[in-house]
Amino acid sequence: MSGETSPKIAVYPGSFDPITLGHLNIIRRASRIFDKVYVCVMVNSAKKYMFSLEERLDFISRAACRFQNVEVEHSEKLVVEYAKEKNANVIIRGLRAVSDFDSEFQMALTNSKIEPSVETMFLASGESYTYLSSTVVKEMAKYGADLGKFVPWEIIDDIEKKIKNRG
Ligand code: ADP
Repeated sequence: MSGETSPKIAVYPGSFDPITLGHLNIIRRASRIFDKVYVCVMVNSAKKYMFSLEERLDFISRAACRFQNVEVEHSEKLVVEYAKEKNANVIIRGLRAVSDFDSEFQMALTNSKIEPSVETMFLASGESYTYLSSTVVKEMAKYGADLGKFVPWEIIDDIEKKIKNRG
């Protein structure tokens, strides 16, 4: 038996439209559990996003560059296929409230049917972020609220600019 263990690799998929402090909290905690974490912006042509793929990738990269073992990518594939491509056997999702549970559970079961070797692991939302979503951020930004409590400071100006330009 060799003493070598394979690196623990996880994928954290999402829309991140835009990344919030809740997402960043999950990324930070996952980066402590796993050797490598791929944060993957999933591209879904049926969904309407406020921020372009490039903007979302740039926002996450700037906010998460402090974590050495975190990489930011995007994919148009099924998340389990992307995970296999990365040799990741864990998909991380964040759970905020009961309202997240049904759809997250359904997705986890579906993914395990497609690819039983990839597990979904749920991290409970940090207690200060259970109310926080990208939708709340976009709504607050429209009303000119202070975004410092909601999103990483590195991206506040960009979000405000975007909202202003959209009128
Ligand atoms: P998706 O469209 O895939 O739900 P999101 O960007 O909305 O993409 O969310 C990505 C993941 O992050 C999901 O698992 C979601 O439950 C989780 N998440 C979102 N906001 C928070 C938060 N405030 N705290 C913890 N997890 C969160």
